[in-house]
Amino acid sequence: MEKQIPQPAASGSWRALLRDLPMPDKYLSGLRKKQIDTVSNMIFVMLLANLLNVAVVLQSFRDSQAGNLLAIWGFCFIFITGLAVLRHIRTRKASVHGNLSEAHVDAVSRGALIIGLFWAVAPLLVMRSADPQGQMVMGIVLAGMMFGGTFLLSRLPGAALSFMIPISMGFALSMLLQSGAAYQLIAVLSMVYLGVLTFAVRWSHLQFIEQHLSEAAVQEQTQLIGLLLRDFEESTSDWLWQTNTDGLLEEIPLVFDTNSDSAGFMKTGALLTSLFEAGEGRKILEAALRRQQGFRDIVLKVQDEASEECWVSLTGKPIFEGHDFRGFRGVAADITQSKQIEDRMAHMAHYDSLTGLPNRVTMQEHLEKVMRKPQSPNTVRALLWLDLDNFKWVNDTLGHPAGDELLRQVTSRLNSMAEKTDMVARLGGDEFALIVERPAGGALESFFGRLTEVMRKPYNIWGSTAHCSASFGVRVFDAFTTDPREVLKHADLALYDAKRTGKAQWSMFTAQLEASAKARVQIEAELERAIEHDELRVFFQPLVDARSHKIVGVESLLRWQHPVRGLVFPDEFIELAEDNGLITRMGEWVIRAALAEAARLPDHVKVAVNISPLQIHSATLVATIVNALAANNIAPNRLELEITESVLMTDTEFTLKRLHQIKNLGVQISLDDFGTGYSSLSYLRSFPFDKIKIDQSFVRDIESRPDSRAIAMATLTLAKSLGMRCTAEGVETLFQADFLRDHGCDELQGFFISRAQPLDNLGHVVDVRAPGELPRVVIEKPEVISDANVVPFTGEKRA
Ligand code: C2E
Ligand code: CA
Ligand code: CA
Repeated sequence: MEKQIPQPAASGSWRALLRDLPMPDKYLSGLRKKQIDTVSNMIFVMLLANLLNVAVVLQSFRDSQAGNLLAIWGFCFIFITGLAVLRHIRTRKASVHGNLSEAHVDAVSRGALIIGLFWAVAPLLVMRSADPQGQMVMGIVLAGMMFGGTFLLSRLPGAALSFMIPISMGFALSMLLQSGAAYQLIAVLSMVYLGVLTFAVRWSHLQFIEQHLSEAAVQEQTQLIGLLLRDFEESTSDWLWQTNTDGLLEEIPLVFDTNSDSAGFMKTGALLTSLFEAGEGRKILEAALRRQQGFRDIVLKVQDEASEECWVSLTGKPIFEGHDFRGFRGVAADITQSKQIEDRMAHMAHYDSLTGLPNRVTMQEHLEKVMRKPQSPNTVRALLWLDLDNFKWVNDTLGHPAGDELLRQVTSRLNSMAEKTDMVARLGGDEFALIVERPAGGALESFFGRLTEVMRKPYNIWGSTAHCSASFGVRVFDAFTTDPREVLKHADLALYDAKRTGKAQWSMFTAQLEASAKARVQIEAELERAIEHDELRVFFQPLVDARSHKIVGVESLLRWQHPVRGLVFPDEFIELAEDNGLITRMGEWVIRAALAEAARLPDHVKVAVNISPLQIHSATLVATIVNALAANNIAPNRLELEITESVLMTDTEFTLKRLHQIKNLGVQISLDDFGTGYSSLSYLRSFPFDKIKIDQSFVRDIESRPDSRAIAMATLTLAKSLGMRCTAEGVETLFQADFLRDHGCDELQGFFISRAQPLDNLGHVVDVRAPGELPRVVIEKPEVISDANVVPFTGEKRA
């Protein structure tokens, strides 16, 4: 609700003059109080002035005709005035604590009206009979009353008007009652005065209201800011601060005692920058203060040895009054807790939680730093990428907690081997990295030797012994390689190479390694296409009877007819195909292709096909074999699958089951590369092989090395006593052929007889039918049957 009070006279009309000024209720009582206060402050002056004027009038007209009437007037005046004043004082007192109401203002106006009326009566009483001197006294007294009273009452326009209108009217009337033009003029003049005074009152009153309103607004804002500040300080752990132009902390107006404990170190009078520890943050703060620039969220550590670690975040901006710099003002927040969490997280992001070692990220950062540092010619630096050889086994057999324990022990071994300037990091899983620096001239190599030895020692994990050697690849830093990623890649390549060599090995990166890695990557991509593009070929190498040298079988050997590189040998791609799983598709293609070709050979010629360990696990292997045999009308016992010991090394139970399943089809199974594996003898017992193939490495040295001779002879005896046939591979000389035959070898295979060739080139050793003589079998899309319903092939040829 808004109370209406007089509004500025924009148009200057009387109506406009009397229009009210809108004012919110909350300001009204303040306004009334001020108005009444002015009256109260002035009331004795006014009273005195009135009494003085009454005295002057009574004195001046004491002897006139109206003397008696005037005496009554004077008496009534003094009486009424006294009453009015008393009443005013009483109401004032009563309302000191309460609100001053409209009624008070009205009462003052009424009082003013009564007094104004008294003064209006006076000229009417005396003017007629007064001499010019008396008239002048009366005129001056009335004019004085009018101007003085109006001035004193201008804050209460109602009262002012109530006072001056009767006086001016009374005066004008008394003048009009006189005869003479001068009196008429004075009457008009008094009306003019009335108008002027009304405007003056109006104007003064508006000034007063405006002043009142702006004062009230300022006060209100001050209160509001005070409240907000208090609220801010109570609701957050933040606090306000302010400095003078010299950067010394000072009290802030409107801010009460801060309730933040952390703020305690910000004492009035202290130099702001001196409160924080030197560092990046303080530098930024100092620069901002010096340049008189605002700053935001500078993280600073409080310099206070006595208390605990405390971090604050500081935001501030310069205060300018006009163009004058007055200091800085801002907010501070205690961020100790979040800083600690942040630090912990940063630690977690950079360190491995299990071993406490720097993690991959940190290692890479360190690697970058080390590589940027110039190297002295007397030292060599290297990155080692280390991988445990047997970790999976430990994890699987002893459990994950044991695996964790092993990693911790590995860590302490690595740490014990490292020198102060070296870095040991965990890259993840069972992979570690070392960045080392050693004197040039062999120290690095001997370190590698010692490291290998230390790492291969058995571990004691809560009473159980775990064998878990480590292999690592080494990349020695050189001036030409500046990209850390390249160094990492090289170390990885070297590790791959070390792993290929065997367990507990280390290998140094060479350009050669990289070249073959590149070639490998390229071959891998091309190999995918080889099958689709019909680039694979099967070559056949004859196996002959050791006595008659008549052909008894052929071994199918895979070749890749590469469009650019020409004929590529299996050594270059079989391992890759095994790595990326392509071997399954490729191997089954070989089975189909070899058997399709074998159909062109006489029935007594057997066909051997090499099988990879991975293929044994393929769900379609058995189906492929059965389909290929059936499609080409080949008796199962003409097919020989060659497997190596490695087939039997993993998941033995499943493998044996699968091998028996195949053997039950009537297919023969040979143990290839005999003598190169670990424990051939136990494998020989685990499965009834049809044939053993003596590895060519023994055959090669029969002539020159007695031990090779001895092994060849022992193998032949062993095969005989186990009732297995025996083939010698890699027979290149007549001596070898004769020696092997004389010691009971059944079949011979090797360059001495023939190299592996396309079937059509073997016409000189075997009767090969032309491809046209048989319907060519479509081998791309075999009818796939599941392993579950494979029934042993009876050997009957289908029509
Ligand atoms: P392997 O099964 O031991 O095959 C015999 C390897 O010895 C063949 O090499 C053959 O060409 C070679 N060789 C035969 N006689 C002589 C000789 O008198 N002197 C010498 N120095 N070498 C001789 P190839 O064809 O390069 O095959 C290498 C290996 O690739 C094979 O060794 C076999 O393990 C694998 N392989 C070949 N074809 C296939 C296949 O279709 N599937 C699978 N899984 N592996 C295959
Ligand atoms: Ca073979
Ligand atoms: Ca072999």
